Amino acid sequence: MENHPPTLACPELLGGDPGRPSLSGARCRGCGEPYFPVGRRRCTRCGGADLEPFDLGGEGRLWSWTVQTFPPKPPYDGDSGEAFKPYGVGYVEMPCGVKVESRLLCQGEPDFAIGEAMRLVVVPYRKRELGAALLTYAFEACR
Ligand SMILES: [Zn+2]
Repeated sequence: MENHPPTLACPELLGGDPGRPSLSGARCRGCGEPYFPVGRRRCTRCGGADLEPFDLGGEGRLWSWTVQTFPPKPPYDGDSGEAFKPYGVGYVEMPCGVKVESRLLCQGEPDFAIGEAMRLVVVPYRKRELGAALLTYAFEACR
């Protein structure tokens, strides 16, 4: 089997380097309002159309969370190749104030504290044909 390097499911969402990833968003040049994900054409705060790339960083605080106790239904098509296990999902508030929905990782059963520090990580989303991994982002607790 040919070896293919892993690729990002949504490369426009991630910046930084593999050892220290960061989220790539946008910011309004007119009023400074930050956005994630990118792709917006107008600022919802001031109506301006001049948005610039903006690095949201790779660390934030847990804003809210719950446990996903059953496999997600389509259109979700992720498959890490492992049997389903309940996992955390929630919102991480970045330093600029944007809240990012994400899978949450920790050792053992999902257990988090609102307000705790979270770090961005890159994880497998699914295995593609020929063994190439498709990657996405998640947050893990900084413990
Ligand atoms: Zn604006």
